[in-house]
Amino acid sequence: MTNLLDTYADVAGQDVINHLRQLARPLRGMKVIHVNSTRVGGGVAEILTKLVPLMRDLEIDASWEVITGNEDFFQCTKNMHNALQGDHVRISEHLFNVYEQVNRENAQHLRPRLEEADFVFIHDPQPALLLQNCPQRRGKWIWRCHIDASHPYRPVWKYLQQFVSSYDASIFSLAGFAKSLPHPQYIIPPSIDPLSEKNMDLPAEEVGAVYDEFRLDPQRPLLLQVSRFDRFKDPLGVIQAFRIVKKFVPDQQLVLAGGGASDDPEGEAVLREVMEAAAADPDIHILLLPPDAHRKINALQRAADIILQKSIKEGFGLTVTEAMWKGKPVIGGDTGGICLQVINFNTGFLVSTPEGAALRIRYLLRHPEKIIEMGGKAREFVRDNFLLTRHLREYLTLILGLHYGAGDRIDLS
Ligand code: UDP
Repeated sequence: MTNLLDTYADVAGQDVINHLRQLARPLRGMKVIHVNSTRVGGGVAEILTKLVPLMRDLEIDASWEVITGNEDFFQCTKNMHNALQGDHVRISEHLFNVYEQVNRENAQHLRPRLEEADFVFIHDPQPALLLQNCPQRRGKWIWRCHIDASHPYRPVWKYLQQFVSSYDASIFSLAGFAKSLPHPQYIIPPSIDPLSEKNMDLPAEEVGAVYDEFRLDPQRPLLLQVSRFDRFKDPLGVIQAFRIVKKFVPDQQLVLAGGGASDDPEGEAVLREVMEAAAADPDIHILLLPPDAHRKINALQRAADIILQKSIKEGFGLTVTEAMWKGKPVIGGDTGGICLQVINFNTGFLVSTPEGAALRIRYLLRHPEKIIEMGGKAREFVRDNFLLTRHLREYLTLILGLHYGAGDRIDLS
């Protein structure tokens, strides 16, 4: 019988699968719980959707819990997210109180399971206070920070730091994001699932169908950015870049495809700004997609000639990985995890301004052979570094390391 993990052998290589089985053997039966604040929308949910079943496939007793919260809670955590990424956002005492209260309430029903788990991975700040509310915990607790908190707004980081300091370890996506914390910190970049609906190969007809569905012209160059409507993703900068390019290459079209995550209350306001900015231009298509439109996004990414991710701040940027896996060069903001993926002039271009993005778009449109060459390198770079199998391996290694402590040797034979 083929199990889930074996289906990855074709794309990742049999050696990789064998290695995962070897690493997981000593961890069989261990209880591992991941906790975040949304089951759909955003990169964390994307990863957990597959990482947890793969851990189960390796006979680890893995599960995924999602905390719930009210509007004030998500307002607070959104502000916190923005502040950790550097915005000077003041958070009222009332919102902090709600944040603490919601964590207490969630802990009430999650506590029995969390306290008996061997490993608990708490994703991002939303559920970070569960640890304080699980005093009888017996396992190791790891805070997994997915955002770029390298230059946070100090008062908000100081507040959060007092809680996350009590964890046994933390994980950041890039070395540059690591903080001053009194426990071991691990660097694990995220990954994509090559077999998911978002990333699997699609029949050519399905890719072609997006032109009709979204009234795009298959004869004209297509630029695409897929993102939540969030200021850090700089959708307005993308529109500006598009306008500059249009002066020189008038026949291109731009798709901004996005939707909301249920833990992101700011999206509507940003969407309104984007719609206003795009209003007069029939070549800018703003697509609001439901959170489960994975195949559609996949098809759009495959249909596009060039993919942009012009973020000003970016934890990692799974949309970049997804685009590169589809053999597309990415023009990405020179920030955070995008720099780990886009090797400038090789797998794409790093840019800091709309003018810079426009320059690179024009270059690629003039050199279609470069689109193919860079896109091919991009795909192989993702295969080597950013597939789910690598991610799983690093989680297993971390668990093994924490489980066996500081010994200089772990015998996996
Ligand atoms: N995504 C989606 N629908 C959207 C916008 C984004 O499915 O309307 C997906 C996108 O394909 C990617 C993830 O959500 O898998 C976003 O992850 P990323 O790391 O790029 O950004 P985040 O939203 O976590 O900041």
